[in-house]
Parts: sequence; C-alpha cells; structure tokens
Amino acid sequence: MSALRAAVIAALFLATACAGPTSRPATPTATAPAIPRTSAAPPPLSPFGDEPSAPRARAPLTILQLNDVYSIAPIDGRGGLARVAALKQRLAAAGRSPLLVMAGDFLSPSVASSIFKGEQMVAALNAAGLDIATFGNHEFDFGVDVLRERMKESRWTWLNSNVVDRTGNPMEGTVPYLVRSFGDLRVGFIGLCLTTDEIKRSSLGDLRLLDPYESAAKYLPALRAEKVNAIVAITHLTLAEDQALVERFPEIDLVIGGHEHSPITVTQNRTLISKAGSEAEYVARIDLARRGEALDRHFELIPIDSRLPDEPETARVVANYERRLGTEMDTVIAASLVDLDAVSLRLRSGESALGNMVADAMRESVNADVAMVNSGTIRGDRVYPAGAWTRRTLLNMHPFGNVVVEVEMTGRLLLEALTYGVSRLPAAAGQFPQVSGVTMDVHLTGPERVRNVRVGSVPLDLDRTYTVGLLDFLLTGGDGYSMFARAKPLVRAEAGELLVSVMEKYMSARRTLSPAIEKRINIVR
Ligand SMILES: [Zn+2]
Repeated sequence: MSALRAAVIAALFLATACAGPTSRPATPTATAPAIPRTSAAPPPLSPFGDEPSAPRARAPLTILQLNDVYSIAPIDGRGGLARVAALKQRLAAAGRSPLLVMAGDFLSPSVASSIFKGEQMVAALNAAGLDIATFGNHEFDFGVDVLRERMKESRWTWLNSNVVDRTGNPMEGTVPYLVRSFGDLRVGFIGLCLTTDEIKRSSLGDLRLLDPYESAAKYLPALRAEKVNAIVAITHLTLAEDQALVERFPEIDLVIGGHEHSPITVTQNRTLISKAGSEAEYVARIDLARRGEALDRHFELIPIDSRLPDEPETARVVANYERRLGTEMDTVIAASLVDLDAVSLRLRSGESALGNMVADAMRESVNADVAMVNSGTIRGDRVYPAGAWTRRTLLNMHPFGNVVVEVEMTGRLLLEALTYGVSRLPAAAGQFPQVSGVTMDVHLTGPERVRNVRVGSVPLDLDRTYTVGLLDFLLTGGDGYSMFARAKPLVRAEAGELLVSVMEKYMSARRTLSPAIEKRINIVR
C-alpha cells in the first residue's frame, strides 16, 4: 500500500517550482495570521461564524481564493479540494455568502493531468462548488480543443476579458465581465490572463490574446455603468503586471491574482492584491463590506490541512480519480532492450545509458543544442532490468515533479557548468552531469579538467550562443549550479513540461529503446 500511495502522491505532485516574492504585510485593515508549517499542535482554525460584533460578520460577501492548483488530493498532508469544499460549506452554513474563485492555472501540469487532460480537476472543482475561474497560461497546455471540452464539463462561470476568437468577441463559453449583488453590495468582476509566450501560440488555435490593460479599459466603464460598489479583477498576471494594472486603473478595489506560487498580499495605493500560494495549501478569504462610500476588505489566509474534514461528495470524486490513476500507472509505455543502471554510485560518477536517454529526451522536447541533467535527479538506486517500462517505473526513476526548461548561454558559461558538474570526481556526486548533444574529455589530473568539448561534432565556441535544456531545479541553482542564473531563460518553469511527461512521450514514440554509453563523457584517469 505505501509504495502505491507514494507513487500516487508522486503522481499528483506538482511540477512548477517557480519562486515568487515572499509574503508581505497586508493592508492595514487586513489580518494575516502567522503561517504554521509543521507545528506539533496547530492552533484551531478561526470560527467561521465570527462574533456578531466582529466587523467582518457584517460583510455580505466572502471571497475564497484559489490559484495555481494542480492536485485534487492533498500533498504531504496539505491542500486537497475536498477540504476546500468543506470550508465553503461551513461558511455557507454559518450564514455567509462564500464565492469560490480560481485565478487560473489548474488544468495542467501534473502526471494526473497528462493522463486525464485536466478532466479530474474540472470534476473535483465542480464538486467543490467553484463559482468563477479565469484562464491561466496552463489552461492552454493541451490546446484549445481540449480546453473547450473541459469548459463544457465545468459548471462555473469562465470570466475572461482578454482572450478573443477570430471575430474579436470573447471566447465562446466565457463572459468578459460580471456583475453580482450580495445584500447591499454590488460587485463587478473582470478577468485577465497573461499574454506572454508562456502560452504557446500553436495551442491557441484561432484565439487571440489581447493586451490586458486595453481589455480592462474596455470593460471597466461597463461596470461603472452598472453602478457597482466594488470592482474585483480576477487575474493571472505577474505581480508586476498586477501592480501596473492598479496603477493605471485605481478604481479596482481588489485583485485576486495567480501565477506566482507563494502567498502574497500587497497593497498598491488603495488596492489589495492577493495571491493564495499554490496547490490549495491555503485559501485566501477576503470579506467585502460597504462602509459609506468606502469598501472594507478583511483578509485571512486559511491553511488547508487536516483540521478541515473532507466534504464527502468531492472526496468521492477525488478517490475515484486516484483509483483510476493507480491503474493508469501500470500502463506500459515502452520496452527497454537493455538493463538500465541507476545505481547511484555509478550514475553519479560517470556517463550512464539511462542518463543519456533522459538527457536526449529533454533535448528533443525543447529542440535545444544541448541538454544537461544532474545525476541526482535520476532515482531508484537500482538496475532497471530490460523489459517493460510503465508510468510507475518512470515515477520511480524521477519522483520529483521537475519540469524541463530551456535557456540560452554562451559556450563559456556552458563550459563553466560542465566543469563544475565533474569537479567532484573521482568522488560520486549528485551534481555529476548526464548530457546530450555535447561530448567532452575529463582529465582527473592536470590544470584543465574539461577538454575537447564538442557540440554535435563541432568544437565548443566560447563566444557562441547555445540553447540548453535543463531542469527547473538546476535553473534555480540546485546541486550548486549557481552559474545558470546568468543564462537567459527561453522556456521558464511556469511554462515547462514535466520531465516524466517528456520521458513518456520520448519513450512511447520509440516503443523499444536500447540506450548505451557512447563516450559522451570520456574520463581520462
Ligand atoms: Zn501561471
């Protein structure tokens, strides 16, 4: 059971490890609690009913914010959409009007999504009672046809002010703005998605992404004409773009944002910008109430953990997909005709056939000149025998959820990285590189450790620019590769594909594989 469970958890584990700004103090009226991570006896959650005299007890609207959620089940005890559903139901039972909002990025990426194409996310979010979602960049990962299918299955409102079809109208199935009344509070919403090349143009079909600021300028007057008391922008933009948005449109009272994966609450002029982290580890609760002409916003970051029960209907949906995922994990994707050695002592001190295959798959997926992977990424510490490879084997080999990124760097920087990679030899080290598209001699004695580097068959040109496929882990300095901070990102972590998905595509396209050691890294003793 534990092995299966671990595989399932690994399967559900999220890919993107993008670092965002850390939490900052919220607005003066907001109360951001300390964030307990691993305390033995966590404090009880705040009573959802509130004292009748509490200021937020009078708030007619309670927004519950999620963004960047890729797993329907908890990860390491945190998150889980069945608990989010329970939170919403408790608030409703306490007489509140909870509105569950998703600020983009949930259909992908995860191992489960690579199998179910985001269907599991829609089913669980339907059950949890999601009310409004905006597009994030990952909603387009499977192309617009799959997105349209997911939209048909969904039971919430897709709020989208800046993704249009070829006629210039908002994408079918979405509304460009929304006005809803809660007691004496009339709230107008717009929804904005980022337009950078994290969304591949090829996955957009006949859709176009319009400038979010121009789209806001187009629809904000419509909200004013409807005499709203509060304007909420539900966005999937970078924090800098959200800040620029509220600089330009100070009438926006609240930004429910996404894309960054850390909880963020900042006040820009008079506007509160909130991002709730990722993976439903937290729900940001924001209660809105009128105070004369002003608007009160009460902020609380609610940890989603075992102190909340599972809501049964959502839990049933989640359990059903977890069971199907377990079966899918046993699907054979390819056969290796040779034993593949992943014994870590050997893998971390020399070229490996398995390492070559991983690096080749990475290089092919981003179409780069070179790919590099730290041996510490390849797990299992065993010889994978010749025969069938299932998705479970892949997850055994790489249980981390790293994604493949692409950078551009000079030959000089590439040489520096390769030299660092082999610097611990003859000792085994996780930083030891497995490579594709490049060969080199490594001298264990003498002044120049790495010599005769060739990219393809051509000697490395220190001043030329090369494209290099890496894992996000290395791009952020993992295993000591701090030099990659000086490379120019072409495909960032937020847009990268899971390594296990890249491997599955590479292997299943070939059906049978027989990778070999071929003197890519020639160690001269
Ligand atoms: Zn995003």
